[in-house]
Amino acid sequence: MNPDLENYTPAPDLLNDRFILVTGAGDGIGATAARSFAHHGATVALVGRTQAKLEAVYDAIEAAGGPTPTIAVIDFSTTQGDAYQNLVDALEEQFGRLDGLLHNAGILGHRSPIEHYEIKTWLEVMHINLNAPFILTQTLLPLLHKSTDPSIVFTSSGVGRTSRAYWGAYAVSKFGTEGLMQTLASELNNMRINCINPGPIRTAMRKAAYPGEDPTTLLTPADIMATYLYLLGPDSEGISGASLDCQ
Ligand code: NDP
Repeated sequence: MNPDLENYTPAPDLLNDRFILVTGAGDGIGATAARSFAHHGATVALVGRTQAKLEAVYDAIEAAGGPTPTIAVIDFSTTQGDAYQNLVDALEEQFGRLDGLLHNAGILGHRSPIEHYEIKTWLEVMHINLNAPFILTQTLLPLLHKSTDPSIVFTSSGVGRTSRAYWGAYAVSKFGTEGLMQTLASELNNMRINCINPGPIRTAMRKAAYPGEDPTTLLTPADIMATYLYLLGPDSEGISGASLDCQ
């Protein structure tokens, strides 16, 4: 059940003294979430595959007077175990713990019937959208256990609950994401573990999925931040195993 977040106003210092990692922080929803978390006091670890984009978000946070973030350039399609461990070691040294983890990075793959779906693309989508969040979560759990109020948020989609034709690996990876979230939430009762379904949002991914759509008819990432702030901050105490819709 969705809590009523229509009138939710996050406190300006909601995330003060929290360390939050955001994947896919260089663009789209992830970039806005990173800036929004910093605006509410969090020190954010910006993770993504394009250094220049992460640096632009870093600069925007600094210019707005937010806590100085950190950057880790990681391509989840190719990264192996050592790189994950290096990230954990760096975070441990810098912060000593992790209070929030937003799994946001994702790719669409291509839209086609399963009968013709390219196997290489299938494996890549499943790896970036589902396997990488599993590996990253597992490697970061020791740091999350050190927090007094840890929260993990996975990013789902409408087609991760009820699929539609031609959504292929993307839809299946999001079904897997919901399953991973539910499994983990039922195993760990000392942290909040939830999914967010952003709904249609004006980003590059949405444009790729619906090239003919007028983007001005869509909400922007900034319009849906209340749900992200709610789940990453203390106001969602007691909520775990849920999949929330932003719209
Ligand atoms: P964007 O395509 O705008 O952004 C995706 C982000 O993920 C980018 O920062 C991208 O980095 C990063 N990323 C992609 N592949 C990799 C990789 N291999 N390694 C590291 N980072 C990677 O998408 P959105 O902001 O729209 O989507 C964010 C999340 O929300 C996704 O999980 C998506 O499935 C979900 N979602 C979005 C909806 C929408 O309407 N927009 C609807 C439902 C769900 P780079 O920019 O460097 O390529």
